[in-house]
Amino acid sequence: ASAASLALALTACGQNSEGGGEEKKGGADGATIGVAMPTKSSERWISDGANVVKELKSKGYKTKLVYGEDDPDQQVSQIENMITQGVDALVVAAIDNKSLNNVLQQAKDADIPVISYDRLILGTENVDYYASFDNEKVGELQGSYIVDKLGLEDGKKGPFSIELFAGSNDDNNTKYFFQGAMNVLKPHIDKGELVVRSKQTALNQVTTLRWDGGTAQKRMDDLLTSSYRSAKVDAVLSPYDGISIGILSALKSDGYGTKAKPMPVVTGQDAELASVKSIIAGDQTQTVYKDLRKLAKVASNMVDAALNDKKPEVNDTKSYDNGVKVVPAYLLQPVSVDKDNYKEALVDDGYYTENDLK
Ligand code: BGC
Repeated sequence: ASAASLALALTACGQNSEGGGEEKKGGADGATIGVAMPTKSSERWISDGANVVKELKSKGYKTKLVYGEDDPDQQVSQIENMITQGVDALVVAAIDNKSLNNVLQQAKDADIPVISYDRLILGTENVDYYASFDNEKVGELQGSYIVDKLGLEDGKKGPFSIELFAGSNDDNNTKYFFQGAMNVLKPHIDKGELVVRSKQTALNQVTTLRWDGGTAQKRMDDLLTSSYRSAKVDAVLSPYDGISIGILSALKSDGYGTKAKPMPVVTGQDAELASVKSIIAGDQTQTVYKDLRKLAKVASNMVDAALNDKKPEVNDTKSYDNGVKVVPAYLLQPVSVDKDNYKEALVDDGYYTENDLK
């Protein structure tokens, strides 16, 4: 039984539960929640860890927060340790979506509910709920930004040249982002208005292991050398700000960013501080903002409901099949951000202050 139900039983017997004099709110009863995040190498996950801890604490929970340094084996042992230490629920943002099946069986055997955070965990029935954003929409926002910015919606016919980048192939979100973007880009590629000179258009040709910016920079260098000696690249689909930074470095080394050779349209995701600054400076063109404060609230509410035998609020019960079951999800809405709307989207929303962006 979970500590929450044990505590309830003790209270019912007239004995007070332990909890070290902790204030108890919202039925937390001194329960401890394990939070496993993928990496500290990207700002977003540092915010996620801090936000989830804050939300859970405000509900009276204790927390253990771990980061897996983008190493799937390390994440598995971190989760194993937390189960051994007796956590009452787990919030997991997977590094490799398929590496967690055994350890989640251990969680199940110990009656520990599991919330899949941002990235869906695949191939196991032992994941209770999924808190994320509308991931296909993220890709659609990136794709339609490119199409709009190049003027294809206003009747321009191009042809414009574009190169495509996708995220890590072990992250379930990757295919949703890419699919969403291709929903918008593919019709223009088919009409010849957008041309991928490298001919690398299949997902497995364009992924970037562990979302690594250096890997993306190397691939962009290679693409510029192999396909752009006698042509300019007009747009680059990038799924994530850290990847965009790598792409922009390769472009700068190749002389882009001048009047004669302007920067192509480069998308991104997460509205990380360095990239919002890059957008303001006119290097990166767009990013997709996902309010991580809201995601942390959704995930904490799921934990709270699951530990109190209530049904968490979900708004999608069909999109996210993990291969074994459709995982009930709550999906938040992403927002496209560029130089024109960053103040309204990010500053007015309190996500960043004007000062942060200086
Ligand atoms: C997240 C993105 C993030 C990427 C790289 C994805 O799973 O949904 O927000 O950019 O991982 O960290």
